[in-house]
Amino acid sequence: MAKKQFKAESKKLLDLMINSIYTNREIFLRELISNCSDAIDKRHYMSLTDSSLSAEFKIELKPDSAARTLTITDNGCGMTRAEMEENLGTIAKSGTLEFKEKQNTAESLIGQFGVGFYSSFMVADKVTVISRKVGETVANKWESGGADGYTVTQCERENAGTEIILHLKPDDEDCAYGDFTDEFTLTRLVKKYSDYIRYPIVLADKTLNSMTPLWRKKKSEVKKEEYDGFYRDKFFDYLEPAHVMTAQVEGNINYSMLLFVPQKAPFDYYTRDYKKGLSLYSGGVLIMEQCSDLLPDELGFIKGLIDSPDISLNISRELLQKDRQLKAIAVSLEKKIRSELKKWLQADREGYEKMFREFGNSLKMGAYNNFGAKKDEFKDLLLFESSENKLASFSEYVSRMKEGQENIYYASGTSADAIKALPQVEVFLEKGYEILCLKDSIDEFVVKMIESYDGKKFVSVADKNAAEVSDEQKAELEKKADDYSKQIAKMKELLGKKVKDVRLTARLKSAAACLTSDSEISLEMERVLKAMPGSEGISAARVLELNPDHPAILKLSKLSESDEKFADYTLALYNAALLQENLPVDDSAALAALLVKLL
Ligand code: ADP
Repeated sequence: MAKKQFKAESKKLLDLMINSIYTNREIFLRELISNCSDAIDKRHYMSLTDSSLSAEFKIELKPDSAARTLTITDNGCGMTRAEMEENLGTIAKSGTLEFKEKQNTAESLIGQFGVGFYSSFMVADKVTVISRKVGETVANKWESGGADGYTVTQCERENAGTEIILHLKPDDEDCAYGDFTDEFTLTRLVKKYSDYIRYPIVLADKTLNSMTPLWRKKKSEVKKEEYDGFYRDKFFDYLEPAHVMTAQVEGNINYSMLLFVPQKAPFDYYTRDYKKGLSLYSGGVLIMEQCSDLLPDELGFIKGLIDSPDISLNISRELLQKDRQLKAIAVSLEKKIRSELKKWLQADREGYEKMFREFGNSLKMGAYNNFGAKKDEFKDLLLFESSENKLASFSEYVSRMKEGQENIYYASGTSADAIKALPQVEVFLEKGYEILCLKDSIDEFVVKMIESYDGKKFVSVADKNAAEVSDEQKAELEKKADDYSKQIAKMKELLGKKVKDVRLTARLKSAAACLTSDSEISLEMERVLKAMPGSEGISAARVLELNPDHPAILKLSKLSESDEKFADYTLALYNAALLQENLPVDDSAALAALLVKLL
């Protein structure tokens, strides 16, 4: 019979499994049992509406040491011939598999691409799969000796379900493969990796697993490896979770939750393609794999499951969306997740900060979305880099505020260092004030939305009222403004539409001038908005502010307004201020010419 070839990528993967020096070969059993459990879940679900499909669900292990085979049988949904070819002949989930140097280890591949079934080739040199789909009368046999291809033939099988026969490799110095027919070894492996599987795993009429789902157990009773293995297996991540959250909620609504925060954001996380959702169980039965209604978008990075006896088993997926109980669970869950995140922030700062670097923008959206409807719920989950070169929460910032400091000050820019170098920031740093450095484009929109924290307003260092100027300073400034009035009027005339205003300021120390905005839209917001379509006409009201005590301004004040140098200096100052703010200059050729002329 002609052998069919594996798709190229699958073949590579198989080679990897066959020649794997992966020491953890024993996980093949967990992978296969997990597939059995999934298949039974599917049939279990179908049987809710079609009782003829129900059965006494179980997974059986049949070792045969003489024949060196291990057979794993389930009475789940089974596979058709086409499904066998599709599921076992290609890599199931990933579509494409990039064999990058780094990832080229069995360890990192297992789970990442759903290579579960292929792991059987780590211990077997031939694998036979006999399966009969529920509702069909014929069965099929799929067989493969590894990378050279596979065959599929029709055959007989009494009941629906699947059986996988592993023809174990001969023992070598690395591994005694024959041990996988040993009852003691198998019992140990089931206990270690598959104890929570909710269907009995039976060996010679003995049930090996406790069948208590992982999410019904107390966190203290579950080993880290159990959570890690479960997470990787169910949620197709090759990394262990960064954080595990569990709860048993009882009262008006009842549910258990087992949630995970991934270490890394999926590549499509911040796009529309990303699909959020939690698995939904009712009394241990999987109702839906990815129920998106359980999570708000801002918490969409969280993976895991909810098991609630309050969700009707027979509910259709269409009706589920409108289900009152589901809505009540979602509301309670959202609160629970936020309080768990807060606890995490308190208990493991480093871990939380790592998470925040991956998913922080999502949490910021929580505070911002719907005109800040949930800003109070989210504000304590946020961290921003501060001029102290560390991440700060708002409450930490407030607790460190200097005596007499009225506001929470922030500045926007590309990095904390760049922000600290801004001319407007100098006076604040000199007073010992901390500055929140807003680096992401969403940041300023978020703090504007939150408005205040603990009675302290968020104020941009560029805000015209930001610098806490004393009455004497103000009086002095007004007097100077009178002295400079002619020059200022001339500068305004020279700059024309480029600025809305030119004025003196007390906020500058060593810098001669700076640009700020007089409108609600700051220079940074203008930059963000300008990058979006349909933003024509949106602009900040630019103001050129001058430091009357700076030598350059003093020099300018001594020139006659009709002097050619007066115009040149004005333009140079304005351009320097643009550059300082990281804004594009209007005409770089003209600026270059001007600089040379001034030499
Ligand atoms: P994954 O389980 O990650 O999808 P696998 O390679 O382990 O990847 O399995 C591929 C697919 O083969 C499964 O998604 C499932 O559709 C099918 N499959 C594997 N084992 C069984 C089984 N025991 N019963 C029914 N279908 C199975």
